[in-house]
Amino acid sequence: MSKNKLITKLNEGPVICAEGFLFEIERRGYMSSGQFVPMVSLDHPEVLENLHKDFQHAGSDIVQAFTYNGHREKMKVIGKEELLEPLNRAALKIAKKVSLNPPKGIAKSLMAGNISNSNIWNEKDKKSQIEVEKMFSEMISWAVDEKADLLIGETFYYAKEAFKALDVMKKTNLPIVITIAPMGENIMRDGLSIVDTCKELEQRGADVVGMNCFRGPETMMPYLKKIRKSLKCHVAALPINFRTTEKNPTFFNLPDNNGCKCGSPHGRTFPTALDPMQCNRYEIGKFAKEAFNLGINYLGVCCGANPMLIREVAESVGLKVAAGKYREDMSSHFMYGTKKRIAKHMREYGDKA
Ligand SMILES: [Zn+2]
Repeated sequence: MSKNKLITKLNEGPVICAEGFLFEIERRGYMSSGQFVPMVSLDHPEVLENLHKDFQHAGSDIVQAFTYNGHREKMKVIGKEELLEPLNRAALKIAKKVSLNPPKGIAKSLMAGNISNSNIWNEKDKKSQIEVEKMFSEMISWAVDEKADLLIGETFYYAKEAFKALDVMKKTNLPIVITIAPMGENIMRDGLSIVDTCKELEQRGADVVGMNCFRGPETMMPYLKKIRKSLKCHVAALPINFRTTEKNPTFFNLPDNNGCKCGSPHGRTFPTALDPMQCNRYEIGKFAKEAFNLGINYLGVCCGANPMLIREVAESVGLKVAAGKYREDMSSHFMYGTKKRIAKHMREYGDKA
């Protein structure tokens, strides 16, 4: 039933998926930046549950289990390999719980299991590839156990690692979303072009193919246009919420262009001093609308996402969401409002404020 559910929904219209938990949980104070291990599912499950709820309230149709970087390699790096399975299962259970128990008036969501870039994939080292396959397999088996409705493989910058992830996910009967994240050279690290990689993923049987992370609207959209033209399947678009440029297509080398007077101690804006380069909500809404008009129905935001932006994505493609109740209402503002009761002397002061 799940396969039909996701695809049917995509055939009918837009499907919204919030990502970017890493940045948002870090911003809320429950994760170490740089280390980026999602210990939150074990350390502060209520925080993760609330974030999922906030995204659901804002219009996310999919509750993606927060297992990004929760793989064996990363757990080895931090010396906590024994927590690998508990962390994954906890994240999956939290996601499942939220997906099945929306607040009154909100439809049930789909729960997604998640695998992603391993950071040890090496195209010249068969051993690393076998290790990655094992990592994917164990995570997917836990996702199936915990009753995921679909699987998301994301943020792959090696084409062949994405193909491997797809192979592993295809051993289940679940619908598969796979999104790639090419770095600043605008090509996959193993030399395949962005569009060819997506075509190959479609050929190999992914249900939804597209891009997520690393790139903001400006440097993702040109590729999405080509991908949409080249593929028949549903396409996914989940940019980061930062103003990347042709010169700096990803957030890794994005310079501060806003008069920064105190840069980060580690010499780059990524990942802790990117704040001034954030897109505003209208830019994200415009991106989503443009993508949707191209025929891209799977939409979301990756790093930098917050519930307000997910609401913006959903509403910009015509969806009604619970959080829409709290959409901006400038008509009641104390200086810029238009309501009758707004004091005249305050309204007149607005341009000097
Ligand atoms: Zn991201």
